[in-house]
Amino acid sequence: AKDEGKNKYQIFSPTMNISMYKKFTLQNDLRKAVQEKNIFLLYQPRIDSKSNKIVGAEALARWKHPEWGIVSPEEFITLAEESGLINTLGEQLLYMACAQNKKWQDQGYDSIKISVNFSALQFLQVNIVDTVENILAATGLEPKWLEIEITETVVMENEANIALKLEQLREMGISIAIDDFGTGYSSLSYLKTLKPSTVKIDRSFIQQIPIDIENTEIATAIIKLSEKLKIDVVAEGVETSEQYAYLRKIHCNEMQGYLFSKPIASEEFERILKIGK
Ligand code: C2E
Ligand code: CA
Ligand code: CA
Ligand code: CA
Repeated sequence: AKDEGKNKYQIFSPTMNISMYKKFTLQNDLRKAVQEKNIFLLYQPRIDSKSNKIVGAEALARWKHPEWGIVSPEEFITLAEESGLINTLGEQLLYMACAQNKKWQDQGYDSIKISVNFSALQFLQVNIVDTVENILAATGLEPKWLEIEITETVVMENEANIALKLEQLREMGISIAIDDFGTGYSSLSYLKTLKPSTVKIDRSFIQQIPIDIENTEIATAIIKLSEKLKIDVVAEGVETSEQYAYLRKIHCNEMQGYLFSKPIASEEFERILKIGK
């Protein structure tokens, strides 16, 4: 309650008025961008630690705003949630990601899994499972080549309801990944209730491995536990060859990070898919 008082005071400061104006303008622009489909996806490869092959791609949204330039998804996803646009936007992005993955398969590249981030609010829709099923049918992508990434905060709100929907998606053959693993409230209990196929160890635990002792122990424990529970582990934010070598040594299944590639456009992704073959 104390913090609330602080925030209320800040709302009326002059600088906040400018950012509120910017936010208001952005919300209108975002509505237009969603309508006109001006939000696009970049793709970041996921690498299998044993074979060093690309086995997946995470689809990451970008918005090129005519005046403000590239707006970070951290900013516009929140904006989309606040303005009720997230469901429409989420569907558009899921469609784009599935269509792109199907296109790569049709072009003859080795099949990879496409990972798509979902917001908490998308899971509150009653018909979310049907929506996903329809998009797969429309794009022709087989469910086993789709993974849905959710964060732990997504689940907190409405655990039983979301667990049920995740189970229906899993029964269709879609993979479920818990994103930013370890940063939420009850990470370990979610391994049991949500039965994910994948956990993605949050970047904060991957930093400075193996120099940082706490991070190294935490990552090792997550990997060991996941192995016992038959859950795949992806390390996020792998930036150095030291991290790579160590994570490989402790049998982390997959890695993702700037060491391999930043998120890139689909045309550029095709070039590395070719090399991977
Ligand atoms: P996330 O799902 O945890 O995505 C990983 C973020 O880490 C991405 O930021 C990626 O560019 C960045 N990253 C990848 N490798 C490295 C690395 O080696 N070092 C560092 N420092 N960063 C790395 P990005 O693309 O800015 O996305 C930020 C967040 O926005 C995502 O975090 C996700 O929560 C959200 N987001 C992005 N696209 C979507 C979307 O289509 N739908 C929803 N609901 N959320 C999205
Ligand atoms: Ca993610
Ligand atoms: Ca993450
Ligand atoms: Ca994140």
